[in-house]
Amino acid sequence: MADDWKQKYLANLDRQERAEAQWQATETLLRQGLSRVALAAQGIDERLDRELDALRQAIRAGADAERLEQAIEGVADAVVRLDEQRSRQRTDSPQELLAHWLDSLSLPRPLRSQARALRRRLAEADEPGQMAAPLRELAELLNTALQPAAGAGGGLMKRLFGSQGGAKGSGKAMEDAGAAAPPASGGPPLGEFCIQLLDTLSLPAELTEEVEGLKERLADGLSEHAVAPALHAIADLISTMRRQMEAETHELQDFLRHLTGRLQDLDQHLAGAQTHHRASIDSSRELDAAVQAQVRHIETSVDRAEDPQQLKAEIQQRLETILRHLDEHRESDEARQHQLEEQLEHLNQRVREMEKEGESLRQRLREKHELAVHDPLTGLYNRLAYDERIAQEFARAKRYKLPLSLAVLDIDRFKRINDSYGHKAGDKALKIIADRVRKNLRETDFLARYGGEEFAIVMPETGLGDALVAVEKLRKDVSQSQFHYQGTGVNITVSVGLAEMQADDTPESLFQRADRALYTAKANGRDRTSAEPG
Ligand code: GH3
Ligand code: MG
Ligand code: MG
Repeated sequence: MADDWKQKYLANLDRQERAEAQWQATETLLRQGLSRVALAAQGIDERLDRELDALRQAIRAGADAERLEQAIEGVADAVVRLDEQRSRQRTDSPQELLAHWLDSLSLPRPLRSQARALRRRLAEADEPGQMAAPLRELAELLNTALQPAAGAGGGLMKRLFGSQGGAKGSGKAMEDAGAAAPPASGGPPLGEFCIQLLDTLSLPAELTEEVEGLKERLADGLSEHAVAPALHAIADLISTMRRQMEAETHELQDFLRHLTGRLQDLDQHLAGAQTHHRASIDSSRELDAAVQAQVRHIETSVDRAEDPQQLKAEIQQRLETILRHLDEHRESDEARQHQLEEQLEHLNQRVREMEKEGESLRQRLREKHELAVHDPLTGLYNRLAYDERIAQEFARAKRYKLPLSLAVLDIDRFKRINDSYGHKAGDKALKIIADRVRKNLRETDFLARYGGEEFAIVMPETGLGDALVAVEKLRKDVSQSQFHYQGTGVNITVSVGLAEMQADDTPESLFQRADRALYTAKANGRDRTSAEPG
């Protein structure tokens, strides 16, 4: 009997020690879980990354629950801001292009106020995704305008469809049309305008085929009856783009919501495990007190013992009480432990899910980013990528006091290529020229298709003199190459504007000077480079 309880007491001490070790392991596991969840969300957004970093550092430093909670709140804040930021994103403004074009139409009087309202709504569209409805309305408006009853004069017909013979070789079209926005005196023919509109929309690469098909149909010229369907098709494209953007945003939001949920779960469990730990210590203390009380009773009994038989019975009873306490304690301890283990396993499962979700989201974001920074036609970087890169190179050049040059390159009289050989041939020419320019550049130079037939070249660690040599080499190479279409050789030339970064420049002012230089090169006869000093 005495042996029995002694063994149980020792076993209890043993278990106490193991429980302590297990608690340490549990806490470590929970902290690792937090760390893994934090890692699973890494690489989605810069600010979020910073907060996640802070959280992981707090975990590594063994911060207490309060500090951990603060760090988790930081993560939650970053998630909220990321959500807001994503809903504000927008692209360049096809709205304006469309509004300008609407201005240029001479609509029959009854339709003018409707057109004005439409223009206002277009201007209010915060993002291209909101243009679908106004575009459909525009289609209807034009349809009405084209009904014989609406009294559409030759003016409107001409403005919608261009001069007779469509896109092919009209003399007027060869003159300088100027900027992308159609001049107020009369817009480009509708088909061409729609192509320009599509070019400005930077639609997602998944839609490339549809966009190309639509452009082809538009380039073939639009008949009176094809106007509404064409605009409807553009509106559909925009709706698709919008749906895709929304789906993407939802996916990210879901993940972020999951993330905050998981972090909070883990945090709660960490707190729960701490409570368990305290409960286990308390119950050990109770046990200790109970055992000591029983032992004191035994001592008193021994002191007062008169009848050995009665003493034996009394001790027996005390020892049994002690045994019962020990058993109860073991049972409740084991139950607690079991519960904790189950919760841990459950959490672990969720952390693994989270890691998988994070990885596939990161992968998709990487793919999306790749698509987002490339131009599907030429495979070159696009305007978005240019904006990113010029900001980086600019900061680097300033910090290390290195020279930096920027060239803006524009194909000469490109409209003529489109007008004489069709839009498809124009696209092919664009690809070939993009290839040639790329082949002429150094690894460290950065080439982007900045706009329709304009390219930007960022040349790090290159002064104006060296940049001029490089740019002249590639300009000559382009002008000497022949582009073949339908058996005829066509020469294409480019004009280049060049500027070197000055102390007080911003990326925008540097671009403006290069663009001014380009204008000078055009004015001086094209097929040449002009450099803008400071
Ligand atoms: P300049 O020498 O003054 O630059 O004359 P340009 O005709 O090249 O200039 P303008 O700005 O008047 O016209 C540019 C043309 O480039 C009009 C537009 O249709 C065409 N363009 C823009 N993007 C594309 C495209 O992706 N594919 C094709 N085929 N043509 C395009
Ligand atoms: Mg141009
Ligand atoms: Mg041009």
